[in-house]
Amino acid sequence: MAFQKKRRRMYPRRKICRFCADKSLMIDYKDVRTLKYFTTERGKIIPRRISGNCAKHQRVLNTGIKRARNIALLPYASNMAI
Ligand SMILES: [Zn+2]
Repeated sequence: MAFQKKRRRMYPRRKICRFCADKSLMIDYKDVRTLKYFTTERGKIIPRRISGNCAKHQRVLNTGIKRARNIALLPYASNMAI
């Protein structure tokens, strides 16, 4: 009788896709502010299950981020210090 697992599902409230919710919000590779929101501070793309984006928009976002990286608007991986 060590320790009882409390099987409480802990999903952090169902997130909705921001781009579906806000139609005025466009994914643009030049819009670094929006893209940055979906990357970690190290420059990695936040996975869909965390960001809550829908598949369609996540795909567009990924393409946008990759494009932005290609023209050096976003870093590939910024934290090389450690
Ligand atoms: Zn969406």
